[in-house]
Amino acid sequence: MSESLFARAEAVIPGGVNSPVRAFRGVGGTPRFMAKGEGPRVTDEDGRTYIDYVMSWGPLILGHSHPDVVAAAIDATRTGSSYGAPTRGEVELAEEIVARIPGVDQVRCVSSGTEATMSAIRVGRGFTGRDKIIKFAGHYHGHGDALLVEAGSGVATLGLPNSPGVTAGATGDTIVVPWNDRDAVTAAFEAHGDDIALIICEPVAANMGVVPAADGYHRFLRDITRDHGALLLVDEVMTGFRLARGGATELLGLEPDLIAFGKVVGGGFPLAAFGGRREIMSQLAPVGPVYQAGTLSGNPVAVAAGLTQLRLLDADAYARLDALADRLIDGLAEAFSDAGVPACIQRVGNLFGLFFTDTAVTDYEGARAADHDRYGRFFHGMLAEGHYLPPSGYEAMFVSTAHTEDDIDATVAAAARVAATLAE
Ligand SMILES: *Cc1c(COP(=O)(O)O)cnc(C)c1O
Repeated sequence: MSESLFARAEAVIPGGVNSPVRAFRGVGGTPRFMAKGEGPRVTDEDGRTYIDYVMSWGPLILGHSHPDVVAAAIDATRTGSSYGAPTRGEVELAEEIVARIPGVDQVRCVSSGTEATMSAIRVGRGFTGRDKIIKFAGHYHGHGDALLVEAGSGVATLGLPNSPGVTAGATGDTIVVPWNDRDAVTAAFEAHGDDIALIICEPVAANMGVVPAADGYHRFLRDITRDHGALLLVDEVMTGFRLARGGATELLGLEPDLIAFGKVVGGGFPLAAFGGRREIMSQLAPVGPVYQAGTLSGNPVAVAAGLTQLRLLDADAYARLDALADRLIDGLAEAFSDAGVPACIQRVGNLFGLFFTDTAVTDYEGARAADHDRYGRFFHGMLAEGHYLPPSGYEAMFVSTAHTEDDIDATVAAAARVAATLAE
């Protein structure tokens, strides 16, 4: 079925998919068309069931079709799916986010992570009256024009340097520097200090595999932006509400001026948000002059699902996610070492990624140097065994609270069998 659906899809959807990594180009083969998800498992159109480590790329932190999240969405839909007028749920969601995230006074909802980073940059530029931004090679912030330079995720998977259709004007104010490099950031501020509105970063780079910040690097970014009157925009679209109650901001003790949220915040529905200090957020219309809007922003169905999911994410949930990640990471590391396959598993909290290489990966160059052909073979070996991993060696793996110890052990056992075939 996946084969025939994909053939039909390719006729009417570019590449057969609505987001590039889904097409399996990074690993080869035909993408599985999913028909059903329940807890930690997905079932494809051919009736094959897999233990899922993609989890919609992060949003489904409680597993597929969590009964409370489903019920909240159904209830909200019954009473009215969209008004174009404010609703109680939006207030409650904003209050929940403000209560969880240190330093966030106000938030505004949007519909995707792309919109969140794009809007946060606009308000940051409006607030500082400056044009230039610094981003890191291999970090992914959605597909907004200004950010589509040396981006991670699908851009990395497909090996695209930069995207045609993005004008030089759109990226002319984007300065790209290597992640974990202090000198390059310092040099950018020396050359353009008074023109730099902000630095945008993932707190843990997780769209080129998982590449944590070096010791002290976040402190360095905070200090250099402050010294130059620039802002620090932390893109927590992947890490927010995943790494801890208060995301990476809480876990790593960050002090961002602006934060972008997405993925987990929407409970599997199209919802994202951005927030920050009141003096910055009050630049937004209708209070201030920076325009930003959306017909479906703060959609009641998405808000109900997202809020329900957030309220279930307590300290126990994060402890469970971390313990499951520990078990999986330890098991995989042992499987590769027993098979004599050089592998490097990098993590922060429950977020982790796998590189087939024998050295630690600290930047995009290192991520590209890993053995991505071997990742493709590992991926297909695991898929055949019933374990659905990210179809690209540039992506993180995701556990949910619905995964059990038995699920993890089954995946580790399969990995040991597949690892043995990778050695040759
Ligand atoms: C997924 C992601 C985005 C883009 O979010 P979309 O909802 O896909 O537009 C932005 N930033 C980071 C860090 C992400 O992981």
